[in-house]
Amino acid sequence: MIYFIGAGPGDPELITLKGMKIIQACDVIIYAGSLVNKEILKYAKPEAEIYNSALMNLDEIIELMVKSHKEGKDVARIHTGDPAIYGAIHEQIVRLEEENIDYEVIPGVSSFLAAAAVLKKELTVPEITQTVIITRIGGRTKVPPEQELKELSRHRATMAIFLSVQEIDRVVSELKEGYQETTPVAVVYKATWEDQVIVTGTLNDISQKVKSKGINKTAMILVGDFLKDVKSYSKLYDREFSHSFRKKENL
Ligand code: SAH
Repeated sequence: MIYFIGAGPGDPELITLKGMKIIQACDVIIYAGSLVNKEILKYAKPEAEIYNSALMNLDEIIELMVKSHKEGKDVARIHTGDPAIYGAIHEQIVRLEEENIDYEVIPGVSSFLAAAAVLKKELTVPEITQTVIITRIGGRTKVPPEQELKELSRHRATMAIFLSVQEIDRVVSELKEGYQETTPVAVVYKATWEDQVIVTGTLNDISQKVKSKGINKTAMILVGDFLKDVKSYSKLYDREFSHSFRKKENL
């Protein structure tokens, strides 16, 4: 069996119990070396064979999975965060289906949720936003035109932007098409790692702040009014407000 496992965002205790137990039992471990915390590998048994997928191409990864499977070995393929979010598991699954090899996916804590946790924020604050958009800026991987940041920004929803901090200027200028310039932004570099950095600001100043910290990879950009100071919208919970505007069944 091949197991695709979400390792979580960094802190090795933020893997699921199920993910950890499977790693403990597997004979072969293939981990995404660029982002998975190597501490996770300590869960593997001493005799497990360990491979860093950052040094392998897709064909080599699949070959290793097929060979191990034929030898009756279980394989843990460890991805950062949750495998379903920019995890590139789709292309591996297609190949395993062709080879008729059984696989399972074990979810993990995605980095956008870890970033919300370290900021101590709810992404879906009632009356402010009830929608989270998970997206990225187009790069080598193209984004369909109707999903460009400038289009999505018109919803003024909470946004979690992956894989984009290296282009923070372009991100900000596209976001300004839809959000007000004073909209808060938080950039979290390596959420839950020991060297985590949090930068907060608005669309007006976040770019300069991020650059002055030298952050150009492994960061989550969170955007939206959910980041505002609690006091600024706590009036929405006033008794009077709730009596006149909020209906119980809509909570
Ligand atoms: N599957 C992963 C995302 C992989 S894409 C997940 O669910 O989190 C890699 C991108 O994820 C990075 O460019 C960055 O935007 C984000 N990322 C991954 N780990 C992170 C962390 N600990 N803190 C902040 N952002 C992170």
